[in-house]
Amino acid sequence: MLEYFEIRNIAIIAHVDHGKTTLVNNLMKQGGVFEEHQKVGETVMDCNALEQERNITILAKTTTVYYKNPENDSTLKINVIDTPGHADFGGEVERVLSMVDGVVLLVDSSEGPMPQTKFVLSKALKLGLKPIVIINKIDRQDAREKEVLNEIYELFFALDANEEQIDFPVLYASGRSGWADTSMDGPRKDLAPLFELVRTYVSSPKIEQDSSFKMLATILNADPYVGRILIGKIYSGSVQVGQNVKAMKLDGSIAEQAKVTKLFGFKGIERVPIERALAGDIIAIAGLTNASVADTICDLSAVDPIASTPIDPPTMSVTLSVNDSPLAGKEGTKLTSRVILDRLQKEAEHNVAITLKISDSGDSFEVGGRGELQLGVLIETMRREGFEMSVSKPKVLMKTAENGDVLEPIEEVTIDVDDEFSGIVVEKLSARRGDMIDMRPSGYGKTRIIYHIPSRSLIGYQSEFRNDTRGTGVLSKMFYAYAKSRGQIPGRPVGVLISNSGGSATGYSLFNLQDRGVMFVSHGTEVYEGMIIGEHNRNNDLEVNPVKAKQLTNIRAAGSDENIKLTPPRLMTLEDAISYIADDELVECTPKSIRLRKRYLSANDRKKFSKNG
Ligand code: GDP
Repeated sequence: MLEYFEIRNIAIIAHVDHGKTTLVNNLMKQGGVFEEHQKVGETVMDCNALEQERNITILAKTTTVYYKNPENDSTLKINVIDTPGHADFGGEVERVLSMVDGVVLLVDSSEGPMPQTKFVLSKALKLGLKPIVIINKIDRQDAREKEVLNEIYELFFALDANEEQIDFPVLYASGRSGWADTSMDGPRKDLAPLFELVRTYVSSPKIEQDSSFKMLATILNADPYVGRILIGKIYSGSVQVGQNVKAMKLDGSIAEQAKVTKLFGFKGIERVPIERALAGDIIAIAGLTNASVADTICDLSAVDPIASTPIDPPTMSVTLSVNDSPLAGKEGTKLTSRVILDRLQKEAEHNVAITLKISDSGDSFEVGGRGELQLGVLIETMRREGFEMSVSKPKVLMKTAENGDVLEPIEEVTIDVDDEFSGIVVEKLSARRGDMIDMRPSGYGKTRIIYHIPSRSLIGYQSEFRNDTRGTGVLSKMFYAYAKSRGQIPGRPVGVLISNSGGSATGYSLFNLQDRGVMFVSHGTEVYEGMIIGEHNRNNDLEVNPVKAKQLTNIRAAGSDENIKLTPPRLMTLEDAISYIADDELVECTPKSIRLRKRYLSANDRKKFSKNG
């Protein structure tokens, strides 16, 4: 039986940890979606392990909550879309936002609006969406709701919000305690004021009067049983299982024609099979094998595709190849270029933001994506699946203008740091050919700095930034424009320490090398010739021997190794490693290890190839 509900489609914009997951869980509970047997997990919405570790939303997700209006017993169905929170995914954000008629901006009552949410909010405002603001965690001792509200107004002004948008309604909430009120001295009872505001302030879905079925594919998913699944909003008509449909590209060409094998709605975060769906709703459809994001899935009679943003081109690429280090094959199970290629092809098929080019020799693969983060997530996922690979330094993808100028991507970087660190940040960004746009005190001893800077300059900068600001700085970036290339950018300011032998690193050798720089390995780490074992404190590379055993000239001294005090090594995450390496270096990834190495392992080869160019 088909159930009819009044529908609202909204997107939720929140900085990590401001309480989005907790709030949505409580909306599900109070809206009555969870049945007795379903346990409400801590983080129902953030279900991808990598996303949880990295504290960002990578994939857009749909959650549906229901609300029974006590006055007239009607049920409201609210589709809540979790937008990707990262500037790497600009096109996705735009397409996802095109499905909704309202956004909820959720802000922590103590931290205030964070620069990371600026990107998605600015897109939402440009699309003309009217936000609802929730100041959350009002129960916090250090809540400063008045200042935070002012900061939100400032942010809206800075983003050129229109009058109607600036006139946003505000709710004061404790998502965790399960209440939201229109004033600070409200009854603090439940989330009904939020449900009511969504019902009255967000308009019902815009649909076309046309009666034939049209839906815009917005999110691509793969299911091991059902296959390719396309999620999107139905713009007109209705669709049912078994119906013949076609997929139209943005240019009107036909991607494929197929029969709908399954339809799904959402209940909480679960997909539930349905027989039929109507215009206005956000649903998932299975049965098509080629259709992709930005395509219109429609009735065979439809002529025009739904207007949409084309998929963003990749801005950055890395080259993946087989792991050919002396330690290859010891930790992973998926090693050959054949299996790596299969996996990448599968990814490119399901992940619209990934492109793939195979080298002429067929044994290395250039993977294009939207930034270090996205590429890092893919490689990390593969590592966990058992793959071993070598990864090159990321390359920014340049463009050529009509007049022949080489253009490069420029980003707008917004930085918040403690005042004492602003000097070093400005010095570094200016050296990397950034232009300062703004710098001003932002209160509480912090400075906000805005730069326009080539994407190239930011590769590898994140970890320097973390060190320079002792881990306290916040850096967020968003694509600004393609502009004339700013020329040579200084590379890594220091050289590396390269092992000249293979074996187990010894505490004794590492101890003696410590005043040369910072180690990346510790006592007992397996090393090989050509592996990078540390950072040199000068700007040239240095070959060293980390596997020397202590000469046993004095037997009594043999036990004294225990007294050696080694400084702990610098451990790098995959993204740190990828952005650290230079052009002649690679990252060796296995399920257990991340090693840095020279592309050419023997000192002779390095000399030979550097001479030849
Ligand atoms: P998300 O990253 O935005 O999804 O945030 P979560 O919902 O996972 O919450 C982040 C942290 O904030 C968790 O430790 C929650 O327990 C806590 N939290 C969530 N809502 C509230 C609230 O209303 N008040 C307080 N004091 N803490 C909250």
